[in-house]
Amino acid sequence: MQFETVIKSTQDKCASCGGHLYFSPEDQALKCKSCGGLEKIEFNHDNQKHRYEINAEKGEEHKKYAQENKVFKCASCGANVVLNRLDVATKCPYCDSSTMISEDVDIGLRPDSIIPFKFGTKKATELYKAGLKKKWFLPNVFKKSPPMDEVKGVYVPCFSFDAHSHTDYYGRLAVNHTKTTRDGHTKTYTTYYNIAGQRDFDHHDILVETSAHIDQIVFNGIKPYNLKELVVYDDAFIRGYSLEHYDQALENCKKVANAMMEKTIESQILSSYSYSYVQSYDQNIKFSDEKYSYYIVPTYSVKYKYKGKNYLTYMNGQTGKVGGGLPRSAVKITFFVLFILLVVVGIIALIYIFGE
Ligand SMILES: [Zn+2]
Ligand SMILES: [Zn+2]
Repeated sequence: MQFETVIKSTQDKCASCGGHLYFSPEDQALKCKSCGGLEKIEFNHDNQKHRYEINAEKGEEHKKYAQENKVFKCASCGANVVLNRLDVATKCPYCDSSTMISEDVDIGLRPDSIIPFKFGTKKATELYKAGLKKKWFLPNVFKKSPPMDEVKGVYVPCFSFDAHSHTDYYGRLAVNHTKTTRDGHTKTYTTYYNIAGQRDFDHHDILVETSAHIDQIVFNGIKPYNLKELVVYDDAFIRGYSLEHYDQALENCKKVANAMMEKTIESQILSSYSYSYVQSYDQNIKFSDEKYSYYIVPTYSVKYKYKGKNYLTYMNGQTGKVGGGLPRSAVKITFFVLFILLVVVGIIALIYIFGE
């Protein structure tokens, strides 16, 4: 990486010409919009997790974060995004509307870590088009020249939780048996047995997305993210981009994470027994050493209109993976269903011919 202008401290404006600075994924540095000068950003991998406390004291860094950034609401689609106070000219990353109204709401927690954008909008457009080629049911016209609007980058908020669990459990499991009687008939019968015990587990990086704007299923389509590339958050990374303001508070996300851990505990415990079905099961869990971390991940949103319908799709801003939510070709789907039917009919015919 070549730095024409390397300045140590993160500044509001370009040191050479006073121009506007934004995060440039190609350079992984702040870049001046006017003269192209670069300013280095610290990449610190020492990511910290916090002890889980609902009303934790907010430190000095948080105050600075609340001063440097502000929540804006899109007048058109209602999305709440966090923008750097110097980036107020930014358009809505979801609907491209330029009417962003300053909201007088709590900015929320300062992100602990971030996966910075790996590539810029130009490369994102190329990768998106290449990704479309792999989509089976996409209409051909669409594959050749996708009617896409501008590609926009937005950071999506996530919470990750760690905990230790101690579980007391008891239950009754059923086992089905079959036996052949002397006259050649098969009989089934069930036996039961009781289980009880204690188990300890360590849970790591239980992820809960908290975006109000991206549907969970759509988000799952662009996962995974390589969390090894998380770096300590710095306001410089979101310059020129926006960050979706998280909708679900930490407490709600913690409840979701706990429910996920409870499910894992139950299935881990039950998987150590062999049974046909569970007649009754109960567990009493005590969580301890609870920690969390708030981090943000990069996504590109792509909007387009096709046959009078609006589509909003997403792409992973780290790996380039293109998600779902795309139009499907009715002709291709019909042919696929017919093909499957033909195969099934063929198999039945073969069984009929050779099974005699
Ligand atoms: Zn400059
Ligand atoms: Zn909008």
